[in-house]
Amino acid sequence: MNDCIFCRIAEGELPAQIVFQDDDFVAFIDIAPKAPVHLVVIPRRHVDSFAQVAELSADERARMTVFLTEAADRAGLTSTGYRVVTNHGANSRQSVFHLHWHILGGALLSDSM
Ligand code: AMP
Repeated sequence: MNDCIFCRIAEGELPAQIVFQDDDFVAFIDIAPKAPVHLVVIPRRHVDSFAQVAELSADERARMTVFLTEAADRAGLTSTGYRVVTNHGANSRQSVFHLHWHILGGALLSDSM
């Protein structure tokens, strides 16, 4: 069994509040939100983190960025604004080792990045 929790969410083996998905990417609500709206966006295909993004094809990388904008839009964040963050490695406090993007919004966010 795959023990990557985000792979298992992508496979439908673990529950998640999915807000938008297509054949290659999934957006779901973060289980411990750091903002009023906090989405996690993943590629279905496992890549450990942003440092390995070259393992995705150029087409996947291009579509991933567009998917991020669509997920944010479906969450109602386009007009008010949002922050997109990805963590790689220990100093960033990455805790799930499947490439993912945080989309944060729904309020005026902290000015400390
Ligand atoms: P990071 O610290 O960048 O690796 O972010 C991992 C994120 O995944 C954290 O914000 C967690 O709250 C979130 N998370 C972990 N498990 C789940 C889950 N089962 N469903 C939704 N979000 C999760």
